[in-house]
Amino acid sequence: MYVKVENNKIVKRYTANEIDSQYPNHLLYKHPAYAQAKKPNDDLLKNLGIFPVISTDAPGQNLKYVHDIECEPKQRNDGKWYQTWRMQPFSKQEMAKIFASKKVVKDRVTICMQCDKRNKLLNVCKVCGCWLPLKRKLVNGHCELNKW
Ligand code: SF4
Repeated sequence: MYVKVENNKIVKRYTANEIDSQYPNHLLYKHPAYAQAKKPNDDLLKNLGIFPVISTDAPGQNLKYVHDIECEPKQRNDGKWYQTWRMQPFSKQEMAKIFASKKVVKDRVTICMQCDKRNKLLNVCKVCGCWLPLKRKLVNGHCELNKW
């Protein structure tokens, strides 16, 4: 990803292909070091106010009840532009798409507790191998024997 910066503000984001199509006659790709790789010359891009963005991994993949949202890239002290992320709690609507209601979970617990396919020690379903405390909370969770 690349960003075009004017007055310290990002005015446009580009992929390398978009730069290619927007500046087809520019020298960006004619630098010998870059011609073969078909990668724009970052030094020449600076003349156009365009900077490569260093991609970073989304930070929230192991956290519960929050999701990561990609934000505007930011320039760090080293002068380079980095992809940035913001953590945001799921909204009620988003939660409802992922997690079943308390009533549904309660009904599922009741059914699983009476089922002979439940491993009582581990609280795991012997049919699907799932850990029941998580499986029953998910909207998309379902019993392989169609008991719920
Ligand atoms: S998920 Fe279905 S099969 Fe597994 S323990 Fe619960 S009721 Fe039984």
